[in-house]
Parts: sequence; structure tokens; C-alpha cells
Amino acid sequence: MLSIKPFEKPIYVMRPLLPEIGSFIDKMRQVWDSGWLTNRGPQHQQLEESLKRVLKIPHVSLFNNGTIAMIVACQSLRLSGEVITTPFTFPATPHVLSWNGIKPTFCDIDPITMNIDPARIESLITPQTTAILAVHVFGTPCDVIKIQEMADRYGLKVVYDAAHAFGVEINGRGIGEFGDASMFSFHATKLFHTAEGGAVAVKNDQLKTRIDLLQNFGIKNEEEVIMPGINGKMNELQAAMGLAVLDYIEEERGKRQKLFKAYCRFLEGVNGISICDNNGKNKEDGIKKSYQYFVIRIDENKFGKSRDEVYEMFKKFNVFTRKYFYPLCSDYACYSQLPSSRESNLPVAHKVVKEVLCLPFYGGLGIDDVERICMILKSFQSSIKVNAVVSS
Ligand SMILES: *Cc1c(COP(=O)(O)O)cnc(C)c1O
Repeated sequence: MLSIKPFEKPIYVMRPLLPEIGSFIDKMRQVWDSGWLTNRGPQHQQLEESLKRVLKIPHVSLFNNGTIAMIVACQSLRLSGEVITTPFTFPATPHVLSWNGIKPTFCDIDPITMNIDPARIESLITPQTTAILAVHVFGTPCDVIKIQEMADRYGLKVVYDAAHAFGVEINGRGIGEFGDASMFSFHATKLFHTAEGGAVAVKNDQLKTRIDLLQNFGIKNEEEVIMPGINGKMNELQAAMGLAVLDYIEEERGKRQKLFKAYCRFLEGVNGISICDNNGKNKEDGIKKSYQYFVIRIDENKFGKSRDEVYEMFKKFNVFTRKYFYPLCSDYACYSQLPSSRESNLPVAHKVVKEVLCLPFYGGLGIDDVERICMILKSFQSSIKVNAVVSS
């Protein structure tokens, strides 16, 4: 018998995947030998090729971060006016629109997948609408078919923020195949990373050319600059990191799959706790998951404690969870005055944002850690006393 004690060291919601330092140093030697630090050197070229295979997409353009990648993706498609997006996302999603001079229009989300609800898009379309910017939240695929149908009917472009969806597949098709362009983030906290970095994935050859021009100041050749581009290039050190990390991705995914199953086992039957399973809308679709986050939803009425209470109580046990994505983007001061930001337009998002909690999830976490985190969570339930005794 042992009582539940706080963790000795803080447990954070995630830790970056660090490759064996030796494998990184080997890559660094190649960089030194080449004397090439940026401007699409050999590491960059190799990473682009590798990611095309891994993501199953004809074209990948690498960037210095995911936000710049998404800004350029919107520029490359010449989006303007208004773009319909979700309020339940990271700040970068609507900010990318603002940086393009575009007004975000917030659309409510699906109560199960927490992704943009395609059924609610149509009523938000105006003559100014040029695109839908959807997010595969927590790596759960959006309803890509319905979104495309809506876009086709109204002549809109579709851009996906696939920051959480590295390696996700629907029936064997890479998630980046859907829509006109998809952005992947390679930030240190993402499953695959280059410390900071990102990419745009596209199918269209001309679009790839335009994205690469926009990424590099619009320089076509030594004599010609043909558009107002930006500096979005990924450097060789980042690309080398990516190549080193890529070798560990499947192993990491395997570890996370085991942790996911362990969480499910230990939380089974806990009243008021449901697990986000990332299966998307259509259960018959064969979804390959990203295992980017482990997400639960807390029903305060059933569990007896609110998400916010659980978040605070976890801290006392040295467990630092995250309230992704609280607050909603539509509640930021810069967007709260938009007509689409009214709570009456976003009832589901307002409910979901109070329920969601990301629990610690990274390959370095042990099954015993997961068990302890779940024991701690269960001890919060009002019917069980804190300091409850558990059998060893
Ligand atoms: C991480 C993230 C981004 C931003 O990516 P950066 O590479 O950090 O710029 C964008 N959207 C979502 C949903 C994210 O989680």
C-alpha cells in the first residue's frame, strides 16, 4: 500500500524529442564539411526529400517556423478579404490571416472532433470570403470531404493548419493531400521538430514554385526579383536537426502509442472523464494518428471538479498540464469585437474550451508515471478523499 505522493521532479505536458547527440554531431560534421549554413544547402534538400516521402505529398517547402510557413501559404494562394477559421486553436492561426490583411471569421466547432464544423461554414460565407483555414486540432483530421465540398460550391480555397498532424493519414493518404495547402509546424514541442521550423505541403507544381519564391525574397535568379517575398528559409542547422530527429520518429510514436493505451486503461470508467481518440468524424476511415497530444475532457457535473480545479490541483502534485486552447482566439482583445466572435455564434467552442485538458505525453514518460498521473486525477473526484490509498 502506498499513498499518492507528488512527483519529485516537475512533470511537464511535453518534452522535446532529442536524438542521440552523436547522431546530431555526425550531421553537424557534414554541415561543417560543406561550409554551407543556409540558402537551401544539402541538409535542406535532404530533409525536403525525406519529408515528401514521410508525409506522402508531392511537394514540401521548408520554413524557419510554422507561422511564417502559413503566412506564405496564404500569400501564395492570393487570399484576401475574409477567411473562415476556428476559434479553438493556437494564436498563430488567426494571426496569420491578420498578417495577410485578412479578417478572420470564426466558425463554431464540432462537439466531438473539436474541429471546425462544416455544417456551420455556409452561413458565414460573404462575397468577401476567399478561403477556409481549418485546423486538424490535436491531430484529429478535419472533415476534409465536407470542407472541400463547401469550398468547391463557393469557389473558396482550403488551407489546413496541420501543426499537430505530422504523419497523420486517412486511408493511407497523407493528411497534406487535402486542401490547397497544409502547414506543418516543426517547433520543439511538436512530435517532429527542427527546434524551430515548419513546412508547407502542396500538390500543385506552380504553387510550389510560387511558395519557394515567396520564401526567399521573391528572388527568381541573380538578375530578377519578381515578387515581394519574405525571408522564410530554414537553415542548415535546423535541417540537420530535423534529419537527426526523423530517425527517431517511429520509435517515439511507438512509445506514445503505448502511453496512450495505458492512459485509456487507467482512466477507463472514470465518471466525467472522456478521452479524445483522434479518430475523426467517420469511424470507418482508417486514421493513422499523430500521437501529438493526450487530451481529456472533464465534465464537471459528472466528475465533481471543473477542468480549472483539476489543472490547479495537478500542480500540487508537480504535474503541469495545459489548458489548450484556452482562451478562445475569438476572446483575444484583437478579435473580440468581430461580429463572428459573439458567444452566441460559438456555443460549442465556449463549452469545449472549459472542458479540455492536455496531460503529460512524451516518449520519455514511463507507464508507471502515467499510472500515477491517473491515480492523482482519480483522487480529485469528490467522492474519493485526496491522499486516498492505492494498492501497489
Ligand atoms: C505550434 C502551432 C503553430 C505555430 O507553429 P510555429 O512553428 O511555432 O510557428 C500554429 N498552429 C498550431 C495549431 C500550433 O499548434
